[in-house]
Amino acid sequence: MITLHVDGAAWRAHQRRVVAATPGLVPVAKGGGYGFGLATLAAEAQALGVGTLAVGTASEVRYVRGAFAGDVVVLQPWRPDDRDAVALLGDERIVHTVSRVSDLAAVAGSGERPRVLLEVLTSMRRFGIAADTFADVAPHLASVELAGWTLHLPMPAATRGNAAEAERLARAALAVRQAPVWLSHVTSADYDRLRASLFAETRKRVGTELWLGGAAKRQVTATVLDVHPVGRGERIGYWQRAMPADGHVVVVSGGTAHGIALEAPTAAATMRQRLVSVATGSMEAVGLALSPFTVQGAKRWFVEPPHMQASMLFLPGKVLPPHVGDEVPVEVRLTTATVDRIVVE
Ligand SMILES: *Cc1c(COP(=O)(O)O)cnc(C)c1O
Repeated sequence: MITLHVDGAAWRAHQRRVVAATPGLVPVAKGGGYGFGLATLAAEAQALGVGTLAVGTASEVRYVRGAFAGDVVVLQPWRPDDRDAVALLGDERIVHTVSRVSDLAAVAGSGERPRVLLEVLTSMRRFGIAADTFADVAPHLASVELAGWTLHLPMPAATRGNAAEAERLARAALAVRQAPVWLSHVTSADYDRLRASLFAETRKRVGTELWLGGAAKRQVTATVLDVHPVGRGERIGYWQRAMPADGHVVVVSGGTAHGIALEAPTAAATMRQRLVSVATGSMEAVGLALSPFTVQGAKRWFVEPPHMQASMLFLPGKVLPPHVGDEVPVEVRLTTATVDRIVVE
């Protein structure tokens, strides 16, 4: 079992601080739900009292709508061949993002009068309607409920600020039709500035900072599933690798299904490093890679690449092995991890 432990009081205090500091905040819950899962984040958003929650794709709506009672925005643009997105056109709780004029025409022609956000093409160049074609949307606006214009900007760190681009594009969009302006990835200072200068309602979508920011203690642990003594030269695992020394193999929960990947072997890349590794008896010399699991105070080496739900680690001779059932720390990136259990403490 891979378990995410979180200090609930500190986590929720952080969430409330972000909400209080960000007028118009729309929490984002998508993919693996930033390690917490979509249903958990939907319940947190409900408790925060926000009126709108954003999910990544139309297929994710079903995981949040039970726990969250407000409106749900789908961030990935609506497409005519996405069956989930098409099926939601008649759903009054859903706000669809539309990024092409042809899709706007299709949505407008559905007869459902869907709620839509029109995405504006920014320097991200991912999705959106180019500013020089904004006028083409006008004929379709009578058949939809325009919830706003939406701008997804590059990371501020990559651009030294997005405010100028956001303001220019938002003004061009607002000239076509007045509507709320939805933003992503603008700094707090730029957001405040835009709120003051745009003369439009603003919304800001936030995921990472809301769920993973702050100082709330978070720890991920793996259960020790088995321990076996191994001898030097003994071949073990799927790949029957020879063990570099006497010791133990520790079988822990956590594998590729949890997003636990083999770390690229760092050392031993060059011949000189390889000789150093051999001389110092380090594990790169025998082709092992460092794992993200900590057992008895140190990161341990994978015996072989992680399996789907378990991993095999090598514990050298002198180290006392853990007990079956112990929980050991594992370092994972919560944006790519899938945990089995969340314990809010
Ligand atoms: C994922 C996403 C966000 C949230 O991004 P974070 O960096 O996690 O805050 C905001 N806007 C859009 C359009 C997204 O796809």
